[in-house]
Amino acid sequence: MTVRTRFAPSPTGRLHLGNVRAAAFNWLFARRHGGAFVLRIEDTDVERNVDGGEEGILEDLRWLGLDWDEGPGVGGPHAPYRQSQRNAVYAAAVDALLAAGRAYPCFCGEGDLESEIGKEGREVRHYLGRCRDLDPAERSRRLSGGGPAPVIRFAVPRGLASVDVDDEVFGPISFPASDIDDFVIRRSDGRATYNFAVVVDDVAMEITHVIRGVGHLSNTPKQALLFDALGRARPVFAHLPTVLGADGRKLSKRDGAAAVAELRRLGYPADAVLNYLSLLGWSHPEGKEVLARQELVDAVALERVGRSDTQMDPEKLLWISSQHLSREDPGTLAEHVAPFLDETRFAPARTHWKQVVEALRTRLSTYGDINEHLPILFGGAERGGEAASALAAYPGAPELLEAVCRALEGVDPWEEAPLAAAVRATGREVGTKGAALFHPVRLALVGSEAGPDLGKLLAALGREEALGRLRPGSAPGGGAKV
Ligand code: GLU
Repeated sequence: MTVRTRFAPSPTGRLHLGNVRAAAFNWLFARRHGGAFVLRIEDTDVERNVDGGEEGILEDLRWLGLDWDEGPGVGGPHAPYRQSQRNAVYAAAVDALLAAGRAYPCFCGEGDLESEIGKEGREVRHYLGRCRDLDPAERSRRLSGGGPAPVIRFAVPRGLASVDVDDEVFGPISFPASDIDDFVIRRSDGRATYNFAVVVDDVAMEITHVIRGVGHLSNTPKQALLFDALGRARPVFAHLPTVLGADGRKLSKRDGAAAVAELRRLGYPADAVLNYLSLLGWSHPEGKEVLARQELVDAVALERVGRSDTQMDPEKLLWISSQHLSREDPGTLAEHVAPFLDETRFAPARTHWKQVVEALRTRLSTYGDINEHLPILFGGAERGGEAASALAAYPGAPELLEAVCRALEGVDPWEEAPLAAAVRATGREVGTKGAALFHPVRLALVGSEAGPDLGKLLAALGREEALGRLRPGSAPGGGAKV
């Protein structure tokens, strides 16, 4: 059997981590099993659709690297992949159920439903099946009577005690059949209802595994009955536990901080976000938490998905992000950070970009953090006064800086290791080491005693800038130049 999974978002807003988590699991599962990942847009609830909703979702998925094998923009053997364009498919399925006696037209109005107070004290309206056994002649008479088109209801099998579903995560669940009325599958205006469209599409698109949020568990018995009635094997159902916001409340589309687009804007690596998503419900058998994309594909399995609610933890997301950054090689990291540089503030930073990023790498948790830390290298002006008096406290600093300058002038290529070695050698020459050597040099370079490793710092500033800052008479920290 070829595994076929799907992500079926409604274009009602941008994706947040709660709903894109389902996409991540479906994608990982399909990739793990060499199957297909299908994207289907569930846009039948016209009032809730938002302009640009679909484009936003596609953009978020593309950024996360959750590429789909079939769906909008890609096509596929089961096109179209937007529910609003699939009315003919739903109509054919309704006709098939009507012909098989598994569905029937219902002429009852809202007022004909029976009210009952349900478990949670809310009013529940029941349909008692009045039109199910209408005399055929009466049914024909009403159908040709010119009144409003009837709704079409699904005929829930009689004598059924329960609908039993074996969920991959939540285990065997028995839903009492008495809770399931003959539900509407087509509205009077001709539109298919939600549960019906989902099942007809899952059948048509040959979906083998339905992986989605536990919020959809209550839809599952109706959907299971529809699969049975359509004569198709039910897919494997796997419901993922609820994702709560950092405040412990249910995550909603209004939680801006959890929006995929926002994380992208802040400079979280897509792979780190995917890694974090996988941990919203799943855990690695060895407790590993930092996993690259391929490691996730190899390791994420439904068996280790838990049932308990899982809560968003922004600190953990940031930590995972920092771990992903720390694994990137210098060239890649520099390339990824580049688009986040605020050039209006840090134009000089571009000159030795790779070395600049290297000097600051341990401070970065996201690519976007770069602007927060660039003042370490290029914000000396603000520290100029303080730095000058701190430098004055080191006896012999001018001579030391001059000697360092001379040694550095001979360094070629201008790279971290020979630069660090030249500074140390100068220290030995003039009989200074440790803080007495490094602090004055750093003060002259960046206006602060603390800061990045000297070799990295010098490489980041470049020959001209570094020597300029060290030369006698220049403002500490390169203050004069900024
Ligand atoms: N369209 C549904 C949603 O956005 C998903 C339906 C499903 O996965 O079965 O929540």
